[in-house]
Amino acid sequence: MEKLEAFIEAVQNARRMVFFGGAGVSTESGIPDFRSVDGLYHQRYDEPPETILSATYFARKPEKFYDFYRDKMLPLEAEPNVTHRVLAKLEAQGKLSAVVTQNIDGLHQKAGSKRVYELHGSVLRNHCTRCGRFYPAEFIRDSQGVPLCDCGGVIKPDVVLYEEALDDAVVTGAVKAIREADLLVVGGTSLVVYPAAGLLRYFRGDKLVLVNRDETPYDSQADLVIHDSLGKVFSALDQAL
Ligand code: ZN
Repeated sequence: MEKLEAFIEAVQNARRMVFFGGAGVSTESGIPDFRSVDGLYHQRYDEPPETILSATYFARKPEKFYDFYRDKMLPLEAEPNVTHRVLAKLEAQGKLSAVVTQNIDGLHQKAGSKRVYELHGSVLRNHCTRCGRFYPAEFIRDSQGVPLCDCGGVIKPDVVLYEEALDDAVVTGAVKAIREADLLVVGGTSLVVYPAAGLLRYFRGDKLVLVNRDETPYDSQADLVIHDSLGKVFSALDQAL
């Protein structure tokens, strides 16, 4: 309980908080972490998600890519949970300057967050690989086989696939936000996935807080570590705001 109170106090005093979030933020909205062992990815597919969600696979077997993608990567009915909502509230109150996320579900924006750096892109944006025309996620969901543009080009989600580089502008924005932050809260990530750990070293502020169910390699470097569910911690924070 003392830890929770210290966390709430740190957030209340923050002026440029940055929240860095991983898959754990969205699991409470019913979106599975495809890296977790008990994910739903085993029965139907011969290949692991890391193979299917690669640039090579997209180029060679787009039908199978989209079969998997539509099945597992487009939870368009998912709703923001308390963590998403409280972060949006903190931004509106002028305490939080940015959210940096590894998730691609767009739930932070759906909750009302404005400045969101999506390191791995978003399923909500899709573009024709030939003419660049934009397509919404619903178009992908409702299409069959490989979704094609009117021009005949293949449509590709703006999601960073394995083998692909992160978007420079997004990384630069995230680094700047973290460097200028007075409080960095890292939640729902084990911090082993690139580039999460690398980004943390830009932080120069007063307090680094980790909120994660399990231990992470960075626990010893944090000022405050809370091993609990994000939903519980942010519900408590919500009461105090
Ligand atoms: Zn096109």
